[in-house]
Amino acid sequence: MKLLKRIIYSLKMGYIYRNALAKLYLRTPPQQRTLDIVPQDLVKQGVKILVLDFDGVLASHGELLPAPEIEAWLQNCLQVFPAAQIFLLSNKPLPARVAYFESYGIRCIAGVQKKPYPEGLLKIQQLAQCQASEILLVDDRLLTGGLAACIAQTQIYYVTRPLIAWGKRPLAESFFMLVRWVERRIIAIYSATAL
Ligand SMILES: [Mg+2]
Repeated sequence: MKLLKRIIYSLKMGYIYRNALAKLYLRTPPQQRTLDIVPQDLVKQGVKILVLDFDGVLASHGELLPAPEIEAWLQNCLQVFPAAQIFLLSNKPLPARVAYFESYGIRCIAGVQKKPYPEGLLKIQQLAQCQASEILLVDDRLLTGGLAACIAQTQIYYVTRPLIAWGKRPLAESFFMLVRWVERRIIAIYSATAL
């Protein structure tokens, strides 16, 4: 029931923010990775708070810990952003994930409505005492993270080349690739009908 409510909310809000989402999708290179983010550049762009999704962004789907190459990238982020300025905002804040990030002093947002509801980002804004525009969410989903960022008016870095382990979880990964494709189609149809 909660899932159905969230899907209806995504479709409704996706329509309202269809132009912003279509622009985000069309302007993002098709192979954009998490590893392409240079934290030093984010600071130059006025980003004060870095918010990370987990699945697809830091690891392939369902993993408990970030991929090894992402760990090195995260260490680089921690050289630039103090741990208090980095948050994990996953729709699946599993205990092992939370424990990993908390070991670095990175806060994990839990107990809020899942993305695309904006509650998680709004809570981060409140905790960080900053402007929404100073927050950057890194996410691989258009109608969850991308939409939440539109609603909360934060910046978004759209990962179009997510981390995927075809060999390990072929069914789950195929399902989420299909979901990513469907949500892009929905936005394409929405924005075409608006013309
Ligand atoms: Mg994700």
